[in-house]
Amino acid sequence: MKTEHTINGLRDPLRQARREGKTIGFVPTMGNLHAGHISLVERAKAQCDLVVASIFVNPTQFGANEDFGTYPRTLEADSQLLAAAGCDFLFAPAATEMYANGLNQSTSVHVAELGKELCGAHRPGHFDGVSSVVSKLFNIVQPDTAFFGEKDFQQLAIVRRMTQELNFPITIIGVPTLRAEDGLALSSRNGYLSAAERQQAPMVYRTLCQLRDAIGYGQRDYEMLTEAARQHLQKSGFDPDYVSVRRASDLLPAKAEDTALVILVAARLGKTRLIDNLAFELPASA
Ligand code: AMP
Repeated sequence: MKTEHTINGLRDPLRQARREGKTIGFVPTMGNLHAGHISLVERAKAQCDLVVASIFVNPTQFGANEDFGTYPRTLEADSQLLAAAGCDFLFAPAATEMYANGLNQSTSVHVAELGKELCGAHRPGHFDGVSSVVSKLFNIVQPDTAFFGEKDFQQLAIVRRMTQELNFPITIIGVPTLRAEDGLALSSRNGYLSAAERQQAPMVYRTLCQLRDAIGYGQRDYEMLTEAARQHLQKSGFDPDYVSVRRASDLLPAKAEDTALVILVAARLGKTRLIDNLAFELPASA
């Protein structure tokens, strides 16, 4: 695997590969890699001739009081994991390389509506930071296919919409969430959890499963169901930002007749913000 820190350093060999007719798969990450990230790389590897992963802790997607400063940076270990997974290029730029005109560059990408609610409401500016940096990375790498985790369901929806509306010639693939045995979605931020919090954390996924089952049994009062789940999380020591049942296709609030659903949760446990979701289909007649 070759590691490149500059845009031109990456573009040159990719141009060559493209000339040879090779397809390029791209996996953008913020590093501190775990098996979930590696499942994206493996998927890319299976589908494309050449795989590029990026590691960039993007400052513009963090709020002023968020964890940009403390976000785990483990480039050495990450690069070993990527090499072992068969990744061909690691792009690990400095912020000055990505933002040559400074972090407040004039141009940004804003995906309205989809980015407004859920995490967008609790992390102002976050999704503008994400869609802008993903656009930049798409233009730098120019992949045929890009791979994103369903773990960040709203982010995936925003990237899909942006790709379509800005006519990026890129296929977006959503990859299922990888979980620990107890159900906790793997996340770089799980490392912030104390031992006691780590024991408590799988309750987020259990809550999602219980809600899915209740809906599966025919309950349709989503307001009541999610409010009860929110209160239960709160009583159990979480500080929930939201629990919400949405249409999987466009993340609009689900109506009783919708059948492709996703339940999304964001909740703080101590200083760790956990997010998770569960997408499922109801039989049309249920
Ligand atoms: P991050 O480094 O957290 O920005 O994540 C980089 C990519 O990995 C994003 O597309 C995430 O959705 C994806 N990802 C993170 N955690 C998981 C997981 N547990 N399973 C599958 N994909 C994941």
